[in-house]
Amino acid sequence: MTPTLLPTSIVGSLPKPSWLAQPEILWSPWNLQGDDLAEGRRDALRIAVHEQTNRGIDIVSDGEQTRQHFVTTFIEHLNGVDFEKRETVRIRDRYDASVPTVVGAVSREKPVFADDAKFLRQQTDQPIKWALPGPMTMIDTLYDGYYKSREKLAWEFAAVLNQEARDLEAAGVDIIQFDEPAFNVFFDEMKDWGIATLERAAEGLRAETAVHICYGYGITANNDWKATLGSEWRQYEESFPLLRQSTIDIVSLECHNSRVPMDLIELIRGKKVMLGAIDVANETIETPEEVADTLRKALKFVDSDNLIPSTNCGMAPFSRDVALGKLSALSAGTSIVREELSVTRS
Ligand code: ZN
Repeated sequence: MTPTLLPTSIVGSLPKPSWLAQPEILWSPWNLQGDDLAEGRRDALRIAVHEQTNRGIDIVSDGEQTRQHFVTTFIEHLNGVDFEKRETVRIRDRYDASVPTVVGAVSREKPVFADDAKFLRQQTDQPIKWALPGPMTMIDTLYDGYYKSREKLAWEFAAVLNQEARDLEAAGVDIIQFDEPAFNVFFDEMKDWGIATLERAAEGLRAETAVHICYGYGITANNDWKATLGSEWRQYEESFPLLRQSTIDIVSLECHNSRVPMDLIELIRGKKVMLGAIDVANETIETPEEVADTLRKALKFVDSDNLIPSTNCGMAPFSRDVALGKLSALSAGTSIVREELSVTRS
């Protein structure tokens, strides 16, 4: 079977149904408890798969329906972190948040997401992708009262993530994605140990590996930060040359409606590129032609066999109609470019 040309995918979250969690806000609390919650999460996951499949998304994910937060839901299941003991820290140098404290050696007793991933595997024959936080983004979401070293804690988390990634692979996950928005902020640490700890998290996997680096959800703190970045966002210039040399297979980046210069993609030539052709900071649904236009521009810098049309980031804060409309736009825009490419090839 020939692989799909330009397989579409989403970066991460989709809105949750209102019976499961309060809609249109990030990290909203669950509306159900106990067994009802477990069942509700799986029903929501089923719907997320159904909507992605119906709307032509080729690489299917769980839409993060079983998770409240892309970092803390994983950390909640680890030893060594006290969620009652909270400190206020600055997240990604941008906004203050009350976060849990590392009080002892971190470790994982049992797989965190493997059962959910197995359930996702049962729902579709399409390739599936699962997202985990990256080591640097994890340490940036905690107060460390134990290791007292960001690097040391990152190496510990990398080892834990690698165990989890191996379990996800065994559950049938085809692509394991690590979310590292911190790579767009802490350049020195990224160069010193950030890439190395990411590679440690991905070590020995047969599944494909991806890293997602973005400018964040469309929340005020992120939008204000973006306003300070000037007319060209060149942050990827720091990470891409290192990622090109790395063992990571796929790089997921923000593109449509951003000020990222398209030619920076040249810096990861040879890697697969998950290209953000859908804006997650704006409710306006892209037209298929707009999506196609973004993809055509990117194809100057990435080989068509390596391009995965995607979203800029997660879509959890949107209404369901907007998010689903954007999925359809992504597929429709991709179809236009597929047609053009097949004409050129034949
Ligand atoms: Zn993101």
